[in-house]
Amino acid sequence: MNPKIKTINGPVVVAKDASSLKIREMVSVGSLKLIGEVISVEGDFATIEVYEDTSGLKAGEEVISTGRPLSVRLGPGLLKNMFDGIERPLEKIQDKNGAFIPSGIGFENLDEDKDWEVEIKVAVGDKLHVGDIYATIMETKTIEHRLMSTFDGTVKEVKPSGTYKIEDTVVILDTNDGEKELKLYQYWPVRNPRPVKKVRPLELLLNTGQRVLDVFFPVAKGGTVAIPGGFGTGKTMLQHQFAQYADADIIIYIGCGERGNEMTQVLEEFPELIDPNTGYGLMERTILIANTSNMPVAAREASIYTGITIAEYFRDMGYHVALMADSTSRWAEALREISGRLEEIPAEEGYPAYLGSRLSQFYERAGYFTNLNGSEGSVTLIGAVSPSGGDFSEPVTENTRRSVNVFLGLDRKLAYSRHYPAINWMTSYSNYLDTMRAYYQENTGIDIISIRNELMNVLLQEDEVRSILMLVGQDALSDSQKNTLDVAELIRVGFLQQNAYNDTDKYVPLEKQIKMLEVIKNYYNYSKDAIKKGIQYKNLYNPDLINDITQMKYTIKNDDLDKFVDLNNKIESHFVNLKGGINA
Ligand code: ADP
Ligand code: MG
Repeated sequence: MNPKIKTINGPVVVAKDASSLKIREMVSVGSLKLIGEVISVEGDFATIEVYEDTSGLKAGEEVISTGRPLSVRLGPGLLKNMFDGIERPLEKIQDKNGAFIPSGIGFENLDEDKDWEVEIKVAVGDKLHVGDIYATIMETKTIEHRLMSTFDGTVKEVKPSGTYKIEDTVVILDTNDGEKELKLYQYWPVRNPRPVKKVRPLELLLNTGQRVLDVFFPVAKGGTVAIPGGFGTGKTMLQHQFAQYADADIIIYIGCGERGNEMTQVLEEFPELIDPNTGYGLMERTILIANTSNMPVAAREASIYTGITIAEYFRDMGYHVALMADSTSRWAEALREISGRLEEIPAEEGYPAYLGSRLSQFYERAGYFTNLNGSEGSVTLIGAVSPSGGDFSEPVTENTRRSVNVFLGLDRKLAYSRHYPAINWMTSYSNYLDTMRAYYQENTGIDIISIRNELMNVLLQEDEVRSILMLVGQDALSDSQKNTLDVAELIRVGFLQQNAYNDTDKYVPLEKQIKMLEVIKNYYNYSKDAIKKGIQYKNLYNPDLINDITQMKYTIKNDDLDKFVDLNNKIESHFVNLKGGINA
């Protein structure tokens, strides 16, 4: 006897006669065949979380087991595609009005009719271990998809290289457990991290071309990042900048619970974007997952796991993957809603007591690894957090902070004064400064982190000087304090502010970032020295020169870095020509 629906409460369905169901099993619910996951089984009753709109379900309808946990199908056809939170193609569930209301389209995910050009990499008699690559496919113009064995065994039969669909068997293995077929896909349960051979230290920079990130708050490949910020402070924009410019091989962008029109914007915008590293469309290396606020809440909860499982799958092929989730607060709200329906005892602000552990389990899936097949890959996780009113002491921000190593606090005041990205340098931090010091030393020969620390110090001094300024006014400041304000302005306006809408400034190669740092450092050293030698502030202050420096991001093009020599010469000649000159 199949289990039958007893009660329906939003996304939560209770089934009776259900002792045959297993916890975490994926089920088909009712005559609509909605997708659900068993959350608990007690005696004869099972509680099921349903990933689709349950309004058409009726008590008494059957629940049918699929015999496997909530899983994603992993294979070619993921890239360039857009899915909902449980991997159904968005195009198929978008109605004529553009709204996404999936219901009962079943388990459809990857396109089964599409032909793929498959290159077979094994021969009869070859021994394969789990994770070993048996075939490759150029999935898009830029990314080779590598099919990995899900069994240990010996190749018994193999098809020649050629054109296949994903359900075609291309390799048959002899295993201890009998013959096994390898097709062009595999399934993986989304809530289980995919295994690796070895966890490696994080040593490489995730280069983003954004100065405030690469120099001030660097992100390591395989690292964890939170972007908390109130409404309109630029979280989504910063996530898009990561997606567009980070030097990752694969981008997974999860639009999680934000308004439908915001996601529609992503769906329209992303296909237009160009990857600066290859010159091809960004979508060639991108997968979009969307569960907007009007879509079923349970699938939103699942979307994070679907995304990270896909990320790990590409990591296992030997790629560097960056995953953005916008916003994890909406994901936490889904968790809260489901928890409420399950009548669990709420903790802080109604969130379940396991909010913190769920968040840390998510971020723990980031890292840099040696994969089972010996290749190296990484998953970098970047989550936006939207605390209401921008209050960082609320539970989602607080719990996220404990799980991440880079915290990019967005600030309403900075956004309001159009200082973008509105990353507050006083509240933000990166725990990767020491490793990046070594990385920069080795790759550029320059101790960028020491310069960064010195400039950061100027910003801290500026804060003090500004509080003095409020009390006593401009005239009471010492020459050295006045100069601190100038240098701080060079750092803030000349370096940290970066214009996402300017062709020269939107993405800046590291070489130029370094030249810009050196110019500011140069000015800082000369001016400090001049003041020490007793030159008056009014003589050393030169608005033209300050202007030249704050404008260098626009005036010196990314491929014309020799111009920095002129700017440094200008700084030098200004200071050596001062009355009572610097060398006098
Ligand atoms: P949030 O996701 O935090 O609500 P958005 O990312 O949508 O905020 O940003 C809101 C607006 O702020 C954008 O539409 C844009 O006008 C402005 N903005 C944000 N970041 C930048 C930036 N880097 N450069 C220029 N404008 C920006
Ligand atoms: Mg947003």
